[in-house]
Amino acid sequence: MTISTSTTTSTSRPSSVRRIAVAGTPATVVLSGALEGDLGPGSTSPTEVLEAQRQSIAPGTWRWLSQSHGNGVVVLSPGESCLGRQGDALVTTMPGAPVAVFAADCALVGLASAEGVVAAAHAGWRSLGAGVLEATVAAMRSQGATQIGAVLGACIGPECYEFSESDLEPLEARYGPSVRSRTTAGRPALDLRAGVLRALEALSVSISADEAQCTACHPGWFSWRARNDVGRHCLVVTGRP
Ligand SMILES: [Zn+2]
Repeated sequence: MTISTSTTTSTSRPSSVRRIAVAGTPATVVLSGALEGDLGPGSTSPTEVLEAQRQSIAPGTWRWLSQSHGNGVVVLSPGESCLGRQGDALVTTMPGAPVAVFAADCALVGLASAEGVVAAAHAGWRSLGAGVLEATVAAMRSQGATQIGAVLGACIGPECYEFSESDLEPLEARYGPSVRSRTTAGRPALDLRAGVLRALEALSVSISADEAQCTACHPGWFSWRARNDVGRHCLVVTGRP
């Protein structure tokens, strides 16, 4: 089975929100951009404003982790809080419970299965190399997921992501030569998208990268590397209630 996706964009007011139905699954992935501001735990917006903004893009009680650039996965049981828990991927079978990850260059991946198992993963280069995607998919399968579809959000592109040889080598050893690239200036670079795609393909997860613009090239996203942005855009996955 191939899982395809469809995207709708609201036109009622300026917005960079993307809602992506993961076809074949009862789940929607929502991407916010810089226009929506920082919706993460580090946001300086007043609580009521922040909460209203979150609810306008994905209704329900949002859950997220204290991201640590590792491979920790938390499987959330019904009613369980994840307040203060560390990890880079959140898995749940709870319908109508949005799970969120935040970034400003790192890859954000939303995953869902036909059985209603959903996950949100934060996959920067350290987490990718530590196997966060493999651990996420294993946790989803332990919850009953069979066919899994995924959506990759915006992340930094290789043309903007100069990388040292010593950091590139272990990623190339793990995911193959497609992760090695060059910047616009010809310097060694990491192709983070290629690494994510390679990791998920090896796990038989079908993934759409249609929305995976470069966060550094496109000002509609937050980028730490290009602009020292302290804000974070988000990816939220919700299973249908
Ligand atoms: Zn770029």
